[in-house]
Amino acid sequence: MLPYRLVYHERYDLHLGEHVFPAKKYRWLKDRLLRSRFAVPEDFVEPEPASDDDVRLVHDPEYVAKLRSGTLTYQDILRLEIPYSRQMVEAFWLAAGGSILAARLAMESGIGFNIGGGFHHAFPGHGEGFCAINDIAIAVRRLQADGRIRRAMIVDCDVHHGNGTATVFANDPSVFTLSIHQFNNYPSEKPISSLDIHLADGTADAEYLHRLGNGYRAALSMFHPELVLYVAGADPYLEDQLGGLSLTFEGLIERDRLVIRTALTQGIPVAIVLAGGYAQSVEDTITIHANTAEVAKDVLEKVRVSGWRA
Ligand SMILES: [Zn+2]
Repeated sequence: MLPYRLVYHERYDLHLGEHVFPAKKYRWLKDRLLRSRFAVPEDFVEPEPASDDDVRLVHDPEYVAKLRSGTLTYQDILRLEIPYSRQMVEAFWLAAGGSILAARLAMESGIGFNIGGGFHHAFPGHGEGFCAINDIAIAVRRLQADGRIRRAMIVDCDVHHGNGTATVFANDPSVFTLSIHQFNNYPSEKPISSLDIHLADGTADAEYLHRLGNGYRAALSMFHPELVLYVAGADPYLEDQLGGLSLTFEGLIERDRLVIRTALTQGIPVAIVLAGGYAQSVEDTITIHANTAEVAKDVLEKVRVSGWRA
């Protein structure tokens, strides 16, 4: 068995039909991890959906009620850029429950891996860019409310800026938000994160890793979080349809290793969520996410921290 659990639910699928967001990637990734014998069925755990109270730790009650009752306006749905359905809402609540569970599991065993989540474009009062509710922020707030952590760091490596997450934690000194992203890309307005690393179009492996390493290490040395939430977007990949950076598979593996190893060697657990990935070939997106799971295993097995049970 793996030294950490993979959090997954069959109903993570957002039911988007033909859409640039490959919502079936969650199932395909699970299948790939089993087929390659990286994982066995017992490695997977199923989350409960987040409760409405969990979701309201981050989101306005009026917005939560609109999502629950199917009374979003036409404007709301346009901004969300995905079709409304009950299954879609259920999938987001499950993804948030999955990120909460992954964060709890990380606190116990060093790594928690949600095969879903990473919806960093959701704001307290509205959703946008395929993100209805912000599972990352909900997980942080839930663990804080439970007294499991005080300080968290969000390391957002999706190619798009983490605008919703930056807004949620804008005036909160207990949460450090780091976003490394392509500057000339959605969202056009980029609310200030604790640390924003703006990258030029076409930035490739070496510069990406250099800029991320410098920013991340400096942030860790001054902030000392009790948990890192790693938003492991697959869309900095050079063949991504919605991204304009030029990272290779190998560069993305080095990125994963950098984020995960730097935290674990300092005794800081890491909860991983997937976020975006729109490669020409969905198989490439699955490969990038599968590689992240492999790096997490490799690093966790090498970094033995007392108190974390394997
Ligand atoms: Zn993205």
